[in-house]
Amino acid sequence: MATDRYTRRDVTKLVGLAGLGAWLAPARVVAGIAQDGRAGGSVLQIPSWPTELRRLAPNVYAYTQASGPGVDNASLSNAGVIAGPEGLLAIDTLGPPIHAKAFKSAAQTATGKPFDRVINTHHHRDHTNGNCFFSPVEIVSSEYTRQATIDDGIPAQPYDTRPQWQAGMSELKLAPPTTTTNGQTTYRYGHTVGEVIPNHPAHTFGDLMVYLPQHKILFAGDVAFYYVTPAGHNAQITKWIAAIDRITGMDVDVIVPGHGPIGTRKELADTRAYLETIVEETRKRYAMGMSPGRAAADIPLGRFAAWTNPERNAWNTVRLYAEFAGTLSPRQDLDAQNEAVAEYLAIRRSR
Ligand SMILES: [Zn+2]
Repeated sequence: MATDRYTRRDVTKLVGLAGLGAWLAPARVVAGIAQDGRAGGSVLQIPSWPTELRRLAPNVYAYTQASGPGVDNASLSNAGVIAGPEGLLAIDTLGPPIHAKAFKSAAQTATGKPFDRVINTHHHRDHTNGNCFFSPVEIVSSEYTRQATIDDGIPAQPYDTRPQWQAGMSELKLAPPTTTTNGQTTYRYGHTVGEVIPNHPAHTFGDLMVYLPQHKILFAGDVAFYYVTPAGHNAQITKWIAAIDRITGMDVDVIVPGHGPIGTRKELADTRAYLETIVEETRKRYAMGMSPGRAAADIPLGRFAAWTNPERNAWNTVRLYAEFAGTLSPRQDLDAQNEAVAEYLAIRRSR
């Protein structure tokens, strides 16, 4: 039976990153209620977080987008900024135009400087669709990410389930990475060093991270999901765990996840624990011949059941079934994932 892992004070403390200075104020903490009866219906306290550009160190900023319990986090990703004497480096560019423009404007207002380079941590459109609003600049990614960005293109009706995001949508156009790197690359913006580090396969087959060794800050991209169910639709989930272990071995204090509030290694350990749980529990149900949608609904997630976007558990079981069967490919199996999500939701509704 699961136990309540965090008290309100613990969560406020860990979200507030005690000991790292006053730059990170405690986030508002609200309760989320676990839905999984077999896990004891644990009441977990998970935070809400704001849309804001937050200064993490001199010339280093994180941009988070508001989310938390009860908010669909799909496409509400985070970004980062390193400021040099002349210009700015963006770490991801968000998705819908209104998000990308708000991020760009906030950073330029805070620094008084223009963007001159973008790093794409991976190809998902909530991290790359905004590229066109930063061009013409150098856009850096892994080779896989560049090709996957081109292959995915821009949908005919982007974000069509989100009417509140449609402003400026006709301006969206494909702006794939212009420069690819297969190894570690170091950029210097004034005195600030940003190391671009490959860490894949993990969330995708092309993940990059940006590490600032002087400040022990890591922009982890979607290798890190905090208080949000990790999306494994393009992942190799067993290798994702190894990618997290590589971060754990680094000298890092502050981690900006691709989704979720700014955090630390403690939340990264939770991402890892979720992935370990889903791997081990899915393995048992794969061996039993259970369908991936039913497996996702059957797995007791304990304290992770309160994380938003639980339908992604069905994406993750589909990916793991492919891994176990030896048929995994880097690209998403959309039909299988949609079928599994439909079965998962039908089972959950029938309870
Ligand atoms: Zn992603």
